[in-house]
Amino acid sequence: VAKEKRLPCALYTQQQNRYSLLRLSLMSELRGAIARGELVLFYQPKLAIKQGKIISVECLVRWQHPVHGMVNPDDFIPLAEKTGNIRYLTLWAIDTALAQCQRWQNEGKLLDVAVNISSVDLQDASIVDYVQHTLEKYQLAPARLALEVTESAVMLDIEKAIAMLTQLHDMGVRLAIDDYGTGYSSMAQLKRLPVDELKIDKSFVMDLSHNRDDTIIVRSTIELGHNMGLKLVAEGVENQDILTLLGQYQCDIAQGYGIGRPMPSDKFEQWWQQYHLS
Ligand code: C2E
Ligand code: CA
Ligand code: CA
Ligand code: CA
Repeated sequence: VAKEKRLPCALYTQQQNRYSLLRLSLMSELRGAIARGELVLFYQPKLAIKQGKIISVECLVRWQHPVHGMVNPDDFIPLAEKTGNIRYLTLWAIDTALAQCQRWQNEGKLLDVAVNISSVDLQDASIVDYVQHTLEKYQLAPARLALEVTESAVMLDIEKAIAMLTQLHDMGVRLAIDDYGTGYSSMAQLKRLPVDELKIDKSFVMDLSHNRDDTIIVRSTIELGHNMGLKLVAEGVENQDILTLLGQYQCDIAQGYGIGRPMPSDKFEQWWQQYHLS
């Protein structure tokens, strides 16, 4: 407990501009927040473009703070990574996502779940056992779970990342490279990773219908990824025009506000039913 308090303070004096007092107080509260049930997962639909079907959801954490209201992950994940508290959040997210997946499965809804894991988690081999244990706990096939990890997180220590991701992949868990295109990994490095999915970063997708450079980047990424046997996901699909283009470019999966926003589970279920009726 003492460590949690000391670290953010040291950070604060060094980098006063980057870490607001709000973020610091949030940080010392994070573990308590998990225990008090203040964290919730929101679910954002992922659409299989050709089939026109919602096949999975990305699970995105929100903090329902008693004072600050709904806090977005960008306001607490980076510091949780620095203090090591991210581990508790990751374990919580995996358990919560798989519990939800099982509930949906029992209701006849076949929805895979994708959980974000951070660079810090890639240094922690015990996550592998936890994933296995939790899949067994909810009696789910490993392929129902995808883990999303950014290319920069992988490149921090690529040997360690390969070792851990290979264990998860051998178990049957699916792996996605998140924010693809924003890091500096080469295709040669990516080839060494047991990856199933590339998620093209939303910065290349959001203006796809207007920006020629983005068009070239997105199209060639899709082609390259397909040649490597990967599924291509575009995030940041904010409207129908972009979705139509992505379909023309043979992109496999689309995710974005134009399809559906991240929603709490009850809202998502209503949305999902409507989506498949219309
Ligand atoms: P991400 O993994 O790249 O997640 C996608 C982010 O883009 C989400 O923001 C989502 O709400 C947003 N988004 C989705 N569609 C659109 C769109 O069409 N347009 C725009 N402008 N944005 C869109 P969110 O939920 O605020 O999450 C931000 C980041 O926080 C995530 O980026 C991820 O890196 C991190 N994060 C969220 N939940 C977790 C978690 O449980 N664990 C870890 N380690 N990181 C998480
Ligand atoms: Ca993600
Ligand atoms: Ca992303
Ligand atoms: Ca991101």
